[in-house]
Amino acid sequence: MENQGHYSFFQGVERNFDKASKYTRFEAGILEQIKACNSVYRMKFPVRIGDSIEVIEAYRVQHSHHKLPCKGGIRYSMDVNQDEVMALAALMTYKCAIVNVPFGGGKGGIKIDPKKYTTFELEKITRRYASELVKKNFIGPGIDVPAPDYGTGSREMSWIVDTYASLKPGEVDALACITGKPVTQGGVRGRTEATGLGVYYGIREAVSIEEDMTRLGLTTGVKGKKVIVQGMGNVGYHAAKFFYDNGAIIVGLSEYEGGIYSEAGLNLYEVVNHRKSTGSILNFPGATNMATSSTTLEMPCDILIPSALENVINASNADRIQAKIIGEGANGPLTPEADEILGAKGVMIIPDMYLNAGGVTVSYFEWLKNLSHVRFGRMDKRFSENQNGSILNAVENLTGKKATDTERKQILHGPDEADLVYSGLEDTMISSYHEIHEEWVRLERKVDMRTAAFVVAINKVGVSYEELGIFP
Ligand code: GLU
Repeated sequence: MENQGHYSFFQGVERNFDKASKYTRFEAGILEQIKACNSVYRMKFPVRIGDSIEVIEAYRVQHSHHKLPCKGGIRYSMDVNQDEVMALAALMTYKCAIVNVPFGGGKGGIKIDPKKYTTFELEKITRRYASELVKKNFIGPGIDVPAPDYGTGSREMSWIVDTYASLKPGEVDALACITGKPVTQGGVRGRTEATGLGVYYGIREAVSIEEDMTRLGLTTGVKGKKVIVQGMGNVGYHAAKFFYDNGAIIVGLSEYEGGIYSEAGLNLYEVVNHRKSTGSILNFPGATNMATSSTTLEMPCDILIPSALENVINASNADRIQAKIIGEGANGPLTPEADEILGAKGVMIIPDMYLNAGGVTVSYFEWLKNLSHVRFGRMDKRFSENQNGSILNAVENLTGKKATDTERKQILHGPDEADLVYSGLEDTMISSYHEIHEEWVRLERKVDMRTAAFVVAINKVGVSYEELGIFP
């Protein structure tokens, strides 16, 4: 998406970095090294589409090698360009640091509109891209591990792992060259919904702190909060789903064709069915159509969750935003100008590099699973010894309540993979929120939360560079 401010996306990230680095103790050289993109691989390759040859433009950027492998998704979109991929790779470095996932940041992109190609053509483009990455050593379990992003999913990840394994016969850890794979191909349960679930856990934590909510004139808790979500892709849909399932009122939803709004609240599952049958979220019974995705963002709500592309809230529309909390499901949805306008209005902005880190957190679990060559969960012998239900009886007696189905399952058989992934993700999102929040309070809330998050990230990456020293 075109930046409507005067900064490019990457410059915007650098500007946010500079704002925060003042509150850290690192010398200028270290800060410059943290900020810089270490490697940028821009490629052009031919693919035969029908009777003609198309030359495709694509990228892979490794922002930081302070920890290896590099990690970050691959997006398919006509907006892909070098600046965008660099910005997204940089955000991955800070994101991984914030959630204590031991990776450097990376990102990839292919400049295509995936809707314009058949599945067969997309597979050819994807495999050719993967082979370029292999050739130049830009992929591998200890080098650089891609994942899904805007316009890609588990299907593309499958093609990439298969291409990698074919070109590297006998590599025992080949499955760990990419995450976000289907569960049947070495993926981990819970990865698909991980980013949206992380968005939910993160905002739930933010709205649980009474002092902050009182400042915003809101009560604590998710229940009854009015929420607008932009984007019904993987992140937006799952974020909306977890808010809806937990008692929030989804008043607005938007997609690229426009949006819908209902003060009384939308039934998310009925909207999804309506979209399946009509091909659009528009004209949903009982809701008002919004001319554009952007105008939907400006409707009244407590929490706004932009979960599509970058720069959607900028100098031209920021002052019309009515939300009290903005949770950045997407990467970079607010320009630096929008940050300033909304910050001056007292809006709480929960930054992307923390809030959408659920995806990479669960990617880390998947990578560990692939490297360890075992399945998570239900491996503990103590649980199989509990088949007679004695622990279940003891728990029910102690709590005086009958266990729910999920509790029963967990007590009798031990947690399964999804339970472990969910609880690991929940724990990560809660503890990382408090790390940022503590920094924010330490800075007397004089800066925005994005700056506090950057301080936390810079401190971790900076220490890493200092300890490693400079080669040679
Ligand atoms: N594309 C996702 C992101 O921007 C996930 C990255 C990953 O799992 O490596 O965070």
